[in-house]
Amino acid sequence: MSEQLQRLAKLPLRENLKGISPYGAPQIDVPILLNVNENTHGVPAEVVESITEAVAKAAASLNRYPDREFTELRAALADYLGHGLAPENIWAANGSNEVLQQILQAFGGPGRTALGFPPTYSMYPLLASGTDTEYVKGERDADFELSAESAARQVRELAPNIVFLCSPNNPTGTRLGLDVVEAVYDAGEASRTIVIVDEAYHEFAHDGTPSALSLLPGRERLIVSRTMSKAFALAGARLGYLAAAPEVADALRLVRLPYHLSAVTQATALAALANRELLMADVEDIKVQRDRIVDELRSMGLTPAASDSNYVFFGGLEDPAAIWKGLLEEGILIRDVGIPGHLRVTAGTETETTAFLVRLRELLGQA
Ligand code: PMP
Repeated sequence: MSEQLQRLAKLPLRENLKGISPYGAPQIDVPILLNVNENTHGVPAEVVESITEAVAKAAASLNRYPDREFTELRAALADYLGHGLAPENIWAANGSNEVLQQILQAFGGPGRTALGFPPTYSMYPLLASGTDTEYVKGERDADFELSAESAARQVRELAPNIVFLCSPNNPTGTRLGLDVVEAVYDAGEASRTIVIVDEAYHEFAHDGTPSALSLLPGRERLIVSRTMSKAFALAGARLGYLAAAPEVADALRLVRLPYHLSAVTQATALAALANRELLMADVEDIKVQRDRIVDELRSMGLTPAASDSNYVFFGGLEDPAAIWKGLLEEGILIRDVGIPGHLRVTAGTETETTAFLVRLRELLGQA
């Protein structure tokens, strides 16, 4: 038993938290951080200036609680998403992790189940145990794909209260067709299943990729979750949000903490949204680096998945742990997601990406 588990054993911890490990992507201080799918291009100087001004203004009223309904922010997010969405369709919290947690608090809980399709975002099972929701691991097809038929069949069989669909999926970077979302939604009709489409990385998808936002009209059990942590380069600010029928926001009002979005967070997010053109220009460069990584990994004889996100999942490695370590020795941190033969790397700046590719070729003996 680890030291941490031994210490915890002294406490009357809830049964379903016993023996599980906290979220633990390593935070190591090295020059090239390509391990947690952050936006590697930094916050542009103009955006830093806008945020600084907005936060300074908000600071003068920090004696007051913030707007509990974050009205201006919801309007700005609805405007950004388009698709005919109105402020009532939007909800936000401190990162999409908190949005997902609130969904589980409202629609999961003891005696209820949530279905995910691993390999997928590692927080889904942790959010489930934190809310005493049973997490069921669904099955994928070959090459980590998920077909509409298979997903729908599993939903019909299990009749879960909640389904997590992650598109583009973390860690594979691959996207789901909207046919999968539609089939899962229809399969969950009898069980009134809440269908979450986690689109944290949607902005990095290849041009013309449709969003599940287009499926929202008439589907009150469908929730599309997004974040400002990735495309908007705001992981440190903690702002995630969702679009859904207005009644979903009403349900989440029942579980959110009062004033959960600080005035500083609201001001920061609004300033970033006002500068979205600048930020989206960096997204375009990240997509170029991502495609470059896929091409180069292929030329090294590896098997990168087709990525629509800001990271690339690749297989064909005999000893991923040795590659991971060899990169770290050069100050490059990528992610070992625990899948045999595979690693995941976030697209960096052009210079960071070059450093990664050069070192990887060396480690593979191809330099
Ligand atoms: N969903 C997915 C698929 C993610 O990869 C992440 C972050 N790694 C999140 C949600 C949560 O992001 P945040 O809480 O920063 O919005």
